[in-house]
Amino acid sequence: MRIGRISGFEVKVHWSTLVIFSLIVLSLATVQLPEDAPAYGEGAYWVAALVAGLVFYASLMAHEVSHAVMARREGIEVDSLTLWMLGGVASLHGEPRDPRGDLRIAGIGPAVSLALAVAFGLVAAAVGALGGPTIIQATFAWLAGINGILALFNLIPAAPLDGGRILRAILWRTRGDRTAAAVAATRAGELFGYLLVGMGIARLLFGVGFGGVWFILLGWFVLNAARAERAQVHVRDALGDLKVADVMTPAPVTAPAEITVASLLEDYVLRTRHSAFPLVDADGHPAGLVTLTQLRGVARDERDEVLVQAVACSRDDVATAHPDDPLLDVVTTLNRCGHGRVLVVDGGRVVGIVTPTDVARALDVATLDEPTIDVRDRPSIGGLLEPRSRG
Ligand SMILES: [Zn+2]
Repeated sequence: MRIGRISGFEVKVHWSTLVIFSLIVLSLATVQLPEDAPAYGEGAYWVAALVAGLVFYASLMAHEVSHAVMARREGIEVDSLTLWMLGGVASLHGEPRDPRGDLRIAGIGPAVSLALAVAFGLVAAAVGALGGPTIIQATFAWLAGINGILALFNLIPAAPLDGGRILRAILWRTRGDRTAAAVAATRAGELFGYLLVGMGIARLLFGVGFGGVWFILLGWFVLNAARAERAQVHVRDALGDLKVADVMTPAPVTAPAEITVASLLEDYVLRTRHSAFPLVDADGHPAGLVTLTQLRGVARDERDEVLVQAVACSRDDVATAHPDDPLLDVVTTLNRCGHGRVLVVDGGRVVGIVTPTDVARALDVATLDEPTIDVRDRPSIGGLLEPRSRG
């Protein structure tokens, strides 16, 4: 769900956030606050719990926004911020150019959480010192504690946590090899994931209750994210030097945007072997892209009336690139309209097309001498390459 914009970033909330929010409010209102600040009415606990839950999510958002703002300052485009069950994710389009940028983007999040912990702690202490309501003191104390935990947990040196990024930046700086540094950080992440799962199983076995499930879930997430990140590191390493022109299919068959679906099928689809056609307007300028999947969506008896451009990806929706663009920049746009195709445009003309197959083949060629590199999930290479900062 989109909920709005903060500092120019689109902010989204995953439905799973609501589940955790409810759990937090429930446990605060019925267990934590009545214990820490006894002798209030039930209503007071619920109001305080609700406020605490909202402020907690605002703190989480502040953490995520700080990553995004710092990334933007380092020249990296930021798509959106998403809150979900286990925290926040900032979708970054690109990677820091040097270890210093890497360190700044990763470090700012825990720093913000720590600053919030201190601020909330000071408020709690002040309320206590002035003899204010204990329920307010307890609420701020809880907010201080949870932000402190957030900061410390994220500082654990294991990718994909912020601490993993910090570890990567330090290794990158000391060893001078970004790929090796990133791989080491993901190995630490994997190890930490196993550790969490192990702790969860131990907790379940020795009967400490529901907390065990939580550890296993978190460990599983860290483990998978660390592995995905390692695959991503290898793909980036393999494709790093290639340009769009190196992998594109040059001079693709183009079709006019203003013909009907029936004539496109007859004159283009049945006469060529392609499954996607760049569209051009009357002047020969790029006007979009149509795929077989889109054409199949048009009922047989409507094909004579419906124009191709009505079902195709428009010029603005389809990903475009220049032949000299780095291939990596293009790969992160593969999930736009057109099932992974990118139009290559030069001087107002379509000069090529890049398909997921082209990218997969380039990857195969680039890793010919490195059989240990295994990138199984070919159709989602775009998703694989989408850099993310989790925290
Ligand atoms: Zn973070």
